[in-house]
Amino acid sequence: MAQTAYDTDNIFAKILRGEIPSHRVYEDEAVVAFMDVMPQGPGHTLVVPKSPSRNLLDADPSTFGPLFTVVQKVARAVKQGFGADGVTIMQFNEPASGQTVYHLHVHVIPRFDGTPLKPHTGGMEKPEVLAQNAEKIRAALQS
Ligand code: 5GP
Repeated sequence: MAQTAYDTDNIFAKILRGEIPSHRVYEDEAVVAFMDVMPQGPGHTLVVPKSPSRNLLDADPSTFGPLFTVVQKVARAVKQGFGADGVTIMQFNEPASGQTVYHLHVHVIPRFDGTPLKPHTGGMEKPEVLAQNAEKIRAALQS
């Protein structure tokens, strides 16, 4: 079945264009990473390619090399920055899978032994907490 077209007004397209704010931790020519506003745990980060696609299913394969290079950088940074025991990587495609924002993105979530994930798109985190967490990740990316 054909996919729904890419919507240029989705929330991540607006974040990429700078029309709405985000706590950015990383940016290069192809990829941006910023804090998830409804984190499933402290340090939950989203890694987003600048090129428009709805999700993995319609993305150009050339997107994935640069995207997953940054996923690895951010995964290492959150593990270091939060002293995590592990890192969960998640990526959803279409509503049946749990996707709620229709611009391809990868979730990077620090994990701690014995601590379950909070629900997907649960409560909003305080901006000051997101800012502090973003700073930890920026510092780890630079070390
Ligand atoms: P999906 O369900 O599409 O895989 O994940 C979308 C993610 O985007 C969710 O984890 C949700 O918390 C997050 N999110 C939704 N709206 C915003 C927003 O305006 N800013 C940021 N930074 N994250 C958002």
